[in-house]
Amino acid sequence: MANCSSSIQFILRIAIPVPLPRLFDYSLPEQHDPRSIRPGMRVSVPFGKRMKTGVVVQVADLDDSTTDPDKLKPIERILDSEPLLSARDLQLLHWAARYYHHPLGEVLATAFPVALRQGKAASVQEDCYYSLSEQGQRASPAQLQRSGRQQALLTLFQTGPYAIASTELSQHKAALKALLAKGLIQPSPRQETDRAWAGQADALQPNPQQRHAIDTVIAGLGQFSVSLLQGVTGSGKTEVYMQIIAETLSRGLQTLVLLPEITLTPQLEQRFRQRFSAPIVCFHSKLNDTQRLKTWLGMRQGHAAIMLGTRSALFTPLQKPGLIILDEEHDSSFKQQEGFRFSARDVAIARGKILNIPVLLGSATPSLESLYNVVRHRYRLLQLSSRAGDAADPLFQLLDIRNKPLRAGLSDALISTMHATLDQGRQVLLFLNRRGFAPVQICHACGWVSRCARCDANMVIHAGEHRLRCHHCGSEQGLPKVCPACKTGELQALGLGTERIELTLAELFPGKTIVRLDKDTTQRKGSLEAYLEQIHSGRADIILGTQMLAKGHHFPEVTLVAILDIDSGLFSVDFRAGEKLAQMIVQVAGRAGRADKRGKVVLQTRQPEHTLLTTLIDKGYQAFAEAALTERRQAGLPPYSHQALFRAHANNAQLPQEFLSALVDLIRTLNGGKTRVLGPVAAPMTRRAGQFRFQLLLQSPQRKDLHRLLDEAVPQISRLKLAAKVRWSLDVDPVDL
Ligand code: ADP
Ligand code: ZN
Ligand code: ZN
Repeated sequence: MANCSSSIQFILRIAIPVPLPRLFDYSLPEQHDPRSIRPGMRVSVPFGKRMKTGVVVQVADLDDSTTDPDKLKPIERILDSEPLLSARDLQLLHWAARYYHHPLGEVLATAFPVALRQGKAASVQEDCYYSLSEQGQRASPAQLQRSGRQQALLTLFQTGPYAIASTELSQHKAALKALLAKGLIQPSPRQETDRAWAGQADALQPNPQQRHAIDTVIAGLGQFSVSLLQGVTGSGKTEVYMQIIAETLSRGLQTLVLLPEITLTPQLEQRFRQRFSAPIVCFHSKLNDTQRLKTWLGMRQGHAAIMLGTRSALFTPLQKPGLIILDEEHDSSFKQQEGFRFSARDVAIARGKILNIPVLLGSATPSLESLYNVVRHRYRLLQLSSRAGDAADPLFQLLDIRNKPLRAGLSDALISTMHATLDQGRQVLLFLNRRGFAPVQICHACGWVSRCARCDANMVIHAGEHRLRCHHCGSEQGLPKVCPACKTGELQALGLGTERIELTLAELFPGKTIVRLDKDTTQRKGSLEAYLEQIHSGRADIILGTQMLAKGHHFPEVTLVAILDIDSGLFSVDFRAGEKLAQMIVQVAGRAGRADKRGKVVLQTRQPEHTLLTTLIDKGYQAFAEAALTERRQAGLPPYSHQALFRAHANNAQLPQEFLSALVDLIRTLNGGKTRVLGPVAAPMTRRAGQFRFQLLLQSPQRKDLHRLLDEAVPQISRLKLAAKVRWSLDVDPVDL
């Protein structure tokens, strides 16, 4: 190396998390050996007036830099002694940046937990470990009957792995302290957790379809494949997951399990802990930064065997990758809707391919995309057609409410069915996807309505808090007592929300306990868990809620489910509305009647002859999906075509339209094959939070054509005059248009 201290020979090409589609060159100060620096290592670099954490993409000769050598700044510091991401994970992230046409720096940042994005060291204080004391091994959990939490924790130790790390016990802090004080558990050396991972013997005897699913996936371990496990709630999908995971554990391999919602992790975690003798970690937004770093590193270093997480866990490095499971694969929460807009399902499959491991998707209501991939033999369909054990399928009833009087949205027929169910001591579940008291306030005299000043939307009445609130921008104000327009007219609440129905239910069913589950009632930390516990222990008669109820939670004592309003979903402009409605109906229905109690599902509608409803109810989800796929094919819509959506917004309506029109002109100069350019058009809710929103849709029968076009167009957008005056984004494979 040259002796002259001012001579610089090497540069580092760095990906920095900024919304610019390029890499940045920095010089490598003399004292660093360029051979010690590898792609995937984090560095701290000066950027503008601040320091940023970037990732090395390439080490190159100074001659290769396109930056003026006098302007090259040196990196500030190298943060890692080895890359935190493996070559294959970097390959995946490069692919994702290209596929979604998103800046690599932001894509790479997504792969790291917050602490690492902030440049913190990739190490954590060694965890404390605990194991049963001799006294604890002999103790019976029944002794602890006065504390359910301590009892549960003791059971966990007695059935789980020998030693458990404090990170895994973050939900059990108080109980841990109590058991330590009682001498039932004790600190323990960490090596004990490295004992062989294993599933436990209390696995159930699989039925033939479960057996087939388990054997098929296990036979494919060690190579890439995608299986779609389709089965209604209660059909034994989780049991299938667990038996496959047990096999990966016994081979010393790790499993990544992705779920759409954090609220679903605790119940699965508990089942896993009872079944597996291996370290299980969770990764989601309710953990603090240090906890997330710990669990991330646990998987990377291979101490942890199983990670349960939401979308953000997708990129966690795996020391010994064995299997990726994505449960409720149809759920739109797997799509990130801002910044780096990616589909966790699609990227999980790309990851499985690069790692050469199987990917298992599960759902009662697979997305049409996935079912189409089965038709094209890209995915293997594994079906569980009946409920495990002896549980019967629920009975559907379309309840025609045309011309029927309704009380807070409930027909008389429904009310009497509810009475009958409650009289048998069973629980009733009511679903309405609208929270608040009523969706709008109106003046009976002059017609004034509670519009949001910043959105093309109404302010929703929240009567309990005496507020009007916009669910789109968060604006709120006190509930007017006199009409703001005419000052004299009588103000009325128009329409129904869960809060209003709750009040009516209290009048109709005096003495019954009603639990309302929606965003408003479950905001406080721990409140959802408390309500779920109340429901499970039987201290609830009527459960009322929004889409929260459609997701995963099991309510075994519910034998009547009613969906109050399905008609609005039948006439939406969104071509996916029918699919979403069908999935919602089946998912909500899945909450009812498990084990020996046959459930009933009532759908109130003014469209009892609508083909979507009759097909779904008479012939099932599969038949619905086939019909829906035929319609999509005839209309040339996804999955039979591929879409990309440009969105643009600004604080006036003109700029986004002009920008998108200029983009259309640009696109017309390029070769898009058969790609159609649709728009620009106003977004469904044109004004939102004071921003005027427009969009431009590209649609092509060939994915390749579409991506070739984007490859050419995207780098040129920044040269458009208006690009700097609007906020724009690109959504590849958008799910809501
Ligand atoms: P899903 O994940 O599809 O909702 P689960 O795996 O949770 O279904 O199974 C539903 C219920 O049926 C659980 O109580 C489970 O223990 C039970 N179960 C699953 N498989 C079997 C089996 N092969 N034999 C007996 N019971 C089973
Ligand atoms: Zn008025
Ligand atoms: Zn608003």
